[in-house]
Amino acid sequence: MSFFDNRVFREHSHDNGFSGNRIDRQSEHRADDCIVEATRHPAVGVYLFAEDRALMSVSEDGLSPLFSLAEAGARGMQADSLILLGHSDDEPRLAAMVPDREQEQEDGASIKAIDLRSLAIQGVVSPDHLGAIAQARSLLQWHATHGFCAKCGQETEIKGGGVRRQCLSCDAQHFPRVDPVSIMLAIDGDRCVLGRSPRFLPGMYSCLAGFIEQGETIEDAVRREVLEEAGIKIGRVAYFSSQPWPFPSSLMIGCHAEALSTDIVPDDDELEDCRWFTREEVRLMLAGEHPDGLKTPPRMAIANRIITAFAEAD
Ligand SMILES: [Zn+2]
Repeated sequence: MSFFDNRVFREHSHDNGFSGNRIDRQSEHRADDCIVEATRHPAVGVYLFAEDRALMSVSEDGLSPLFSLAEAGARGMQADSLILLGHSDDEPRLAAMVPDREQEQEDGASIKAIDLRSLAIQGVVSPDHLGAIAQARSLLQWHATHGFCAKCGQETEIKGGGVRRQCLSCDAQHFPRVDPVSIMLAIDGDRCVLGRSPRFLPGMYSCLAGFIEQGETIEDAVRREVLEEAGIKIGRVAYFSSQPWPFPSSLMIGCHAEALSTDIVPDDDELEDCRWFTREEVRLMLAGEHPDGLKTPPRMAIANRIITAFAEAD
C-alpha cells in the first residue's frame, strides 16, 4: 500500500489561477546554445510581453498568446531579452520583451496587450498557457533587473537559456528567485478573520498575508502574521494549497489557522478594517449576495479558494 492510500489527499493547488504550467523546464540539463537550438525548431513558440502585459493575437478563434519567431520579429522582439522556458510536448517555448509603445493602437483589433490579473480573471487563455505566462513574466522581470553582479558590481550574462546569470568578471552565479508569501484564514469555530487593505476594490475583504522571513517555517510565519495584523494568537496551522503569483515572483502558500484568542487588534498601517465574519456571511460574499455588497477576491485567487474551503466545510 502506498503512503498516500490511507490519507485524505487532494491537490487543491490546481484550483488556483496560474497553476497549470505543463512546461518541461530541463533546468539542470541545458547547453548554453539551447536558445539558438530552440529557434531552429519548426514548431517553436514565443510568449511576448510589453512591460508587464502579455501580448495576444486576436482571431475568430479567440486569443492566442504564442507567436512564431517571424511574428515576434515583426512586433519588434528584443533579442537580448530572449529566454527558454522549456518544452511543451517537445515544442520549444521561448519568452521575450517587445517595446511597450503603442502595441495596441498600432494594430487595432489584431493584437492585444493584457495584464496578467485580467488574463487570469477573464479565463481567456487555457490554464497551461496561463501558467507558462506566469513563469515567463517572473523570469523576464528578474533578468531585466539583474544585469549586474550583486557580489562585485560588474556585468552579468545569461546562461543556460535563462535559468541563471553569470558574472563576466568574478564568475559568480546568480539564480532567479521565488519569494514565498504565507496567506491564511484564521478560524474560530463558525467564523473567520478577513481584512481590508486600503488598496482593495470597494467592499472587498480577503485573507491576511505576508512574506515569509528568513529562518522562519511556514507555520511560524502564519502565526506571526496573524498576531501582527490582527492581534490574534494562532495554534494549529494546516497547509491547504499554493499559487504562483507573478507580481513579480511570489509563491503564495495558503493555510488555515486555528485561532486561540478572539479579540482583534488591527494593524492600522496595513489594514483599514479587520473583523470576524460568520460562515453564513462569507457564503453570501462568495455568492455575490452580501446585503452590504461585501465580497471576496475572484475565484482565480488562492484567497478565494481558502475561504471557500472554510465556507463549504460542515
Ligand atoms: Zn561579479
